[in-house]
Amino acid sequence: MENIYNLTVEDLEKYFLSIDEKKFKAVQLYSWLYEKRVTSFDDMTDMKKTVIDRLKTDFSFDELKIVKVERDVEVNKYLFELCDGSLVESVLMRHDYGTSICVSSQVGCNMGCKFCESGRLKKVRDLKVYEMVLQILQVEKDIKERISHVVIMGIGEPFDNYLNVTNFIRIINHAKGLAIGSRHITVSTSGIVPKILEFADFPYQVNLAVSLHAPNDKIRDEIMPINKAYKIKDILDALKIYYKKTNRRITFEYIMIDGVNDKDENAYELCELLKGLNCYINLIPYNETNNIQYKRSKNDRILKFYDIIKKNNMSVTIRREFGSNISAACGQLRSKKEEL
Ligand code: SAH
Ligand code: SF4
Repeated sequence: MENIYNLTVEDLEKYFLSIDEKKFKAVQLYSWLYEKRVTSFDDMTDMKKTVIDRLKTDFSFDELKIVKVERDVEVNKYLFELCDGSLVESVLMRHDYGTSICVSSQVGCNMGCKFCESGRLKKVRDLKVYEMVLQILQVEKDIKERISHVVIMGIGEPFDNYLNVTNFIRIINHAKGLAIGSRHITVSTSGIVPKILEFADFPYQVNLAVSLHAPNDKIRDEIMPINKAYKIKDILDALKIYYKKTNRRITFEYIMIDGVNDKDENAYELCELLKGLNCYINLIPYNETNNIQYKRSKNDRILKFYDIIKKNNMSVTIRREFGSNISAACGQLRSKKEEL
């Protein structure tokens, strides 16, 4: 039996046609799932009994298990147990412009970035589409309000689970699905070049963020093993094609790690590297974790770095910090059982 939240509208249309029903039923069903939020086929009062019976034999409504919720002023962190016992986390953040959720896309992560807690557990498996959809539905149910923004920046490398992540986007963006505007959806990748190119043809106006974190290959090689496969130049070349096709501004994430990538010369080099690209640089003060030796750059260092970029007329912000009190900040989420 397949989980009902696994299906895009197109999948459901095919399904209804296959059981000799009209395909508009797909949108009707979506409206029950995502607008009215019913969790039983019996409640879908405009469906025939025969269709309901068929749906019941083909699909389940199984939810994820919420094992733990930690609540802070502006942040909630949710620990979910999946049906095979795997664990992932999601983070809800309250902003002045709405609420956003940071969704996990894999159990563990194979990219092995040296600074990241999530990557300390090798990938166990990709998340299914419904496991990403349910992170949103179940958090919305908990807070009794709708989430306005989605960032795919939790545990995992979204482009290493490309098909499921893009289908997830199709569902949450659909007008009768969660109806989250494409400009309110952001995917963050460590820089998987073939997938950046594929994403250039993905017909949804979602935002792309790239975890650059270094102004040259020497530093990036040291902190991100993926850089051995795809060099900075390969990433930038792919992004130029992406930009040509989509005309969408690219975000570069740059975590600031003390003594590793935060010198003045690194800022100058970064400006030189990104010159001429329509992009914006998001400086992220490194979140320290118990298991990794890296330290956060000093505040005055971060400000100086910011100033240099600003003076070079590039768009740059320093990311506001969320959730470090409850280890819910970037790079602090994990799937490792013994430490949760
Ligand atoms: N795998 C994807 C998305 C998840 S990570 C990616 O790497 O882009 C989300 C962001 O948090 C990435 O930019 C990542 O590099 C960053 N990050 C990882 N560990 C961090 C830490 N300890 N402090 C701050 N940011 C971190
Ligand atoms: Fe994976 Fe992203 Fe963490 Fe790197 S930073 S290990 S790609 S989750």
